[in-house]
Amino acid sequence: MNAHDSEKVVGTLLAQGYSQVQEPADAGLVLYNTCSIRDKAEQKVFNRLQNFKREAGKGKIFGVLGCVAQQEGEKIFERAPHVSLVAGSASYTRLGEMLVQLEAGNRRVTGLSLNTDEAFDTPFTRRDNPHRAYITIIEGCDKSCAYCVVPFTRGPERSRTSESVMAEARGLADKGYTDIQLLGQNVNSYRDPSPAGWDFARLLAEVAKTPGLRRVRYTTSHPRDFVKPIVDAMDEDERLCAHVHLPVQSGSSKVLAAMDRRYTREDYLQRIEWVRAAKREYALTTDIIVGFPGETEKDFQETLDLLDEVRYDSLFSFKYSPRPNTAALKMEDHIPEEEKTRRLTIVQEKQRSIQIQRNAQLIGGVMEVMVEGRNQALGQWIGRTSCNRTLNFSHPEGGESLVGKYLNVRVTRSGPNSLVGETAAVV
Ligand code: SAM
Ligand code: SF4
Repeated sequence: MNAHDSEKVVGTLLAQGYSQVQEPADAGLVLYNTCSIRDKAEQKVFNRLQNFKREAGKGKIFGVLGCVAQQEGEKIFERAPHVSLVAGSASYTRLGEMLVQLEAGNRRVTGLSLNTDEAFDTPFTRRDNPHRAYITIIEGCDKSCAYCVVPFTRGPERSRTSESVMAEARGLADKGYTDIQLLGQNVNSYRDPSPAGWDFARLLAEVAKTPGLRRVRYTTSHPRDFVKPIVDAMDEDERLCAHVHLPVQSGSSKVLAAMDRRYTREDYLQRIEWVRAAKREYALTTDIIVGFPGETEKDFQETLDLLDEVRYDSLFSFKYSPRPNTAALKMEDHIPEEEKTRRLTIVQEKQRSIQIQRNAQLIGGVMEVMVEGRNQALGQWIGRTSCNRTLNFSHPEGGESLVGKYLNVRVTRSGPNSLVGETAAVV
């Protein structure tokens, strides 16, 4: 999501007559797009700003964008006095106006309002990848997960009209994009604000029918809003990729209640069952937080048991990080840092062994990949499967680039995080 926000910001600047340079040292204006989901990410911004200012930043104008900007607001001007622009993502519709103020010499420009009704629907997006593109369908979040800063930094939910999403999908397909990712903090709660009134399942089905598109993905889903019609829509159309990312956070219903996730372990497993019972086979991935306040050894064990039960294809795991304004901050029984580290290591080791086993089962099979790049050092092409695995493969040298092409690849080897293979036939 942040990467796509940066694409929109760059596109807006280019449309205003700015040009982009390769190295920050060559720039007159340096913008940092920031994440504040965990404390580490936030610290990084200030360290980088400080180091860059010292070495190469003399005479430049600095701006801080994104969630740290929204969260810290004007305090950033005190903490980093060389910063002249502080703007959260909900204010990017006003970016042009803010740039005019900067050009006029104003050195305290802010865009911190969250009261925007509009999603950031800019016609000026500078896409980094010529084959794979992101489309934001919903901004903000109306949930109140006790650990999460997003509702405070990205504001309330705003869905784009289905008409504008479809127009963007058609426009991208016309430009030659074949692979689209629909984005939102919680895409499942998408509600078309126009009279058509599409829900997420309908939007998925319609986007997938866009002539020219071969793959459509989406992220992220909240289990509470992940309804069966979404699985049915995916089963109907193979252009909807064979991958479901369904963040569980914890395997303990007690911890889930404390997190205010509003589903139990059983509710979650019911959703996994829908996916497992579907006609096609889907990769399943998740997010896990360890060391949430009050998480006992028994709760933690329930998370480990869940990993054994679901056998995810991959997961992102995090140590709970206390965030400003959130409900969990005031909870008791915060877990010591060393204990969080211990639990994280156990989750990651368990998952690694599950992935080794799951990936090994794919050896000998043929999978379609979209070619994303080339690893010169290994002499291999880098492909991505519909189930979102990296499949690096060798192909008879013909001099032409395969990037953006779709090929069938036979899997010959596997590791915990990727597969290796050789081309079977051009699709
Ligand atoms: N909207 C998505 C959902 O509900 O699952 C998640 C968005 S969040 C950007 C991505 C992941 O970061 C979450 O699923 C969670 O695992 C993790 N995360 C969020 N806040 C966190 C915190 N305070 N400490 C540790 N991990 C956190
Ligand atoms: Fe954060 Fe929960 Fe919203 Fe996801 S659903 S962005 S975890 S508050």
